[in-house]
Amino acid sequence: MESRRKSNPQLRRGLCYANNSKQQDRSPSVIVIGGGMAGIAAARALHDASFQVVLLESRERLGGRIHTDYSFGFPVDLGASWLHGVGKENPLAPLIGRLGLPLYRTSGDNSVLYDHDLESYALFDTVGNQVPQELVTKVGEAFEFILKETDKVRQEFSEDMSIFRALSIVFERRPDLRLEGLAHKVLQWYLCRMEGWFAADADTISLKCWDQEELLPGGHGLMVRGYLPVINTLAKGLDIRLGQRVTKVVRRYNGVKVTVENGRTFVADAAVIAVPLGVLKANSIKFEPKLPDWKEEAIADLGVGIENKIILHFENVFWPNVEFLGVVAETSYGCSYFLNLHKAAGRPVLVYMPAGQLAKDIEKMSDEAAANFAFTQLKRILPDATSPIQYLVSRWGSDINSLGSYSYDVVGKPHYLYERLRIPVDNLFFAGEATSMSYPGSVHGAFSTGMMAAEDCRMRVLERYGEIDLFQPVMGEEASVSVPLLISRL
Ligand SMILES: Cc1cc2nc3c(=O)[nH]c(=O)nc-3n(C[C@H](O)[C@H](O)[C@H](O)COP(=O)(O)OP(=O)(O)OC[C@H]3O[C@@H](n4cnc5c(N)ncnc54)[C@H](O)[C@@H]3O)c2cc1C
Repeated sequence: MESRRKSNPQLRRGLCYANNSKQQDRSPSVIVIGGGMAGIAAARALHDASFQVVLLESRERLGGRIHTDYSFGFPVDLGASWLHGVGKENPLAPLIGRLGLPLYRTSGDNSVLYDHDLESYALFDTVGNQVPQELVTKVGEAFEFILKETDKVRQEFSEDMSIFRALSIVFERRPDLRLEGLAHKVLQWYLCRMEGWFAADADTISLKCWDQEELLPGGHGLMVRGYLPVINTLAKGLDIRLGQRVTKVVRRYNGVKVTVENGRTFVADAAVIAVPLGVLKANSIKFEPKLPDWKEEAIADLGVGIENKIILHFENVFWPNVEFLGVVAETSYGCSYFLNLHKAAGRPVLVYMPAGQLAKDIEKMSDEAAANFAFTQLKRILPDATSPIQYLVSRWGSDINSLGSYSYDVVGKPHYLYERLRIPVDNLFFAGEATSMSYPGSVHGAFSTGMMAAEDCRMRVLERYGEIDLFQPVMGEEASVSVPLLISRL
């Protein structure tokens, strides 16, 4: 194999700095831009397939929207924390199983809306009265029924509309489904949860597309020890350059040239673009020649929403032993919820998760004001709550490395835009959650697209050099070794 590689002069191409005039005797090369799950998965796969890989990451840390923080003395995730689809169908299951990372299953249901079982909520009104559990369950079921009714609206109207508008039409037609008083507020809370799933307000979510993603079986499990070990394992042994913000990507027939903020350039046979959709939308990376119109349209037309986490660390646990605490209100904007990490991971921590417009508004506040805002919500339902001893605040919407939390389908735009975003352009291969038509907005979706980009890249580069059988396929044997996942429910 080695001698064959050497025999092909075209393969004697290497990844080098542009100012390094002497081309080195190396195997095909690729630059991966972005060190989140997608970029790392692509880099790992191509490295294992004998490519020369350099990964350029703008932040001083790896993981992107996986961000496990240890400043409380234990892991908490400021970005992703659930594995959606706790079962062998999940492409991350073999790795998580091998690492022995425990999961806490918050729901056995495969639903978009109920990543927590209905009985695991304790909901309160804004003056601290607990909502009877039967009402929580009853309204949860009613909401599911009402959403099914919106399907009839979808069948009837050729034009797309927002999920909010569709709900209004259902209520106009079926006044018997309208809820009043406390039940109405509980319904708003479920709507607020749905908005959290999409990181967007109901009046911007597409009726036609909201349920087009695929849900893997096995329910939803929290990564009790944080997601970072998965990233670190995949990144082991890779050539990773942190603090390298890419500003320009030039593609030519025989390779790519990538420039970073400080002016340094890297060249290779191909590049994997694994930066977030928000970054592509902001045009902070210049492509030369420009990307084709269909690609630019996909970038412009896919939505990117905001969900944040305000993580409150307390001295003691003073709240009920449920997985989720919620505040119900007249509108979904006024509702809120807290994930109880004590139940899931034994830590005295509550995670407040605003989404959509509320998340945008909170991002305008200082960290201290944002933490106070979350604590005020908690005080409304638990007046004896003691102040947190520490807090963490995410800003995924304004962070220039993400410019949004995850993608979603906006009204009037087709779901196939995710695929358009994924399709390669010459020797540029695109990866990331927003390029996953089946699993957008998820860690396993990002991982799958990284693997796909790696395979596409391998095929293209090696086809061109006539060496298609030379290297290992990107999905090695290891991927098929299955270790059962460690799942608990306290
Ligand atoms: C608050 C929150 C909660 C979430 N919860 C879940 C969950 O529970 N389960 C789940 O499955 N998913 C969840 N998600 C979604 C999940 O985190 C993402 O879908 C996934 O991590 C995205 O991975 P990625 O590789 O596509 O992008 P990213 O992780 O964003 O990686 C892109 C990388 O590119 C880097 N970059 C940006 N610009 C440049 C540049 N110019 N040059 C070089 N590098 C650059 C970034 O710094 C980043 O490291 C959540 C997301 C958020 C924000």
